[in-house]
Amino acid sequence: MAVKNARIARWINTNVRSMQAYHVQDAGGFIKLDAMENPYAISESLRTSWLQTLQAAELNRYPDAASVALKAALQDQWQLPADKPLIIGNGSDELIQMLLLAVNGQQRTIIAPEPGFVMYPVLSKLFNMRYVGVPLRDDFRLNTAAMLAAVEQHEPAIVFIASPNNPTGNCFDESAVTSIIEAAPGLVVLDEAYFIFNDGSLVKLLDRYEHVLVMRTLSKLGLAGLRIGILAGAQDWIDEINKVRLPYNINTLSQLSAEFYLQHFTELKQQAGQIVEQRGELFAALNALPQFKVYRSDANFILFRCLEKSADSIHAALKQQQVLIKNLHGSHPLLDQCLRVTVGTGEENAAFLDALKQAV
Ligand SMILES: *Cc1c(COP(=O)(O)O)cnc(C)c1O
Repeated sequence: MAVKNARIARWINTNVRSMQAYHVQDAGGFIKLDAMENPYAISESLRTSWLQTLQAAELNRYPDAASVALKAALQDQWQLPADKPLIIGNGSDELIQMLLLAVNGQQRTIIAPEPGFVMYPVLSKLFNMRYVGVPLRDDFRLNTAAMLAAVEQHEPAIVFIASPNNPTGNCFDESAVTSIIEAAPGLVVLDEAYFIFNDGSLVKLLDRYEHVLVMRTLSKLGLAGLRIGILAGAQDWIDEINKVRLPYNINTLSQLSAEFYLQHFTELKQQAGQIVEQRGELFAALNALPQFKVYRSDANFILFRCLEKSADSIHAALKQQQVLIKNLHGSHPLLDQCLRVTVGTGEENAAFLDALKQAV
């Protein structure tokens, strides 16, 4: 790689130099259906009392380093087992970073099914760990035999399993997941970023296996701007991982805001219900178009494959019409000609479908 500045070449870590910075598309003026955000605004009355809550914030003081009140609200609202402590992260992304820092070591391996969430390989490589992606089946179910073989061969420090999986949208079969958990020599992290949109949570496995951790986030249920994720699990594991957390990682405004909205969780839950309803309608409308193969989703997005025109050309034509979705073509062999659309409001979905019909 040609680096003009010799000092950079000498001092910036080779892994870092070979990386690309995470690129976020500028979405000004677009109908934004690319990032799995909740499309609904919070009601005026709730916003007003939220702002009143923030008036109590003492910004001259450091935040509560342990986020005690927020943890209690999360355990309560999400019915997490009381004997499984939490770590709060600045989004799940920071929790993935903490996990990898905590197990980091020479020749350590991380395993995840693929196609999957990009932060697992990106951060593994950043920390100089080996990353092994195990392909899913063609129908995006776990390939249990391949996962078990990879676990046996590589003895991974962590197996990450996102269910529902991003970008495919499906929950994984419980028995497939448990057989991987039983074979794993290290940690298994169940990433439930999309738990609110289905009944497939495997949080009960926390009681069965002490080497399982469950990760969740507020990002997909209406509070992406707060950057709050959680990791739940056995005390001994959580104590170790907590050592790599920076002392005041969750700022006061995020703690107070998240706590407030968890106390008024019904509204966010209702919005998730609306998204699930819209998902059904969007699925049916897409499925009626013979130009696409549409995959069933347990999350707030839908993956579909372009059978006639290329994904690149359809993605570009949508962009031309101010509709932004995610082009996955080229990111993994199983995602050949695939696009992913986040479920928006009824109007946004209709605008997307109109633009899509124009594009084909
Ligand atoms: C969106 C997503 C996350 C959430 O990341 P945050 O940092 O909490 O916003 C985590 N895991 C998966 C699989 C996701 O799709």
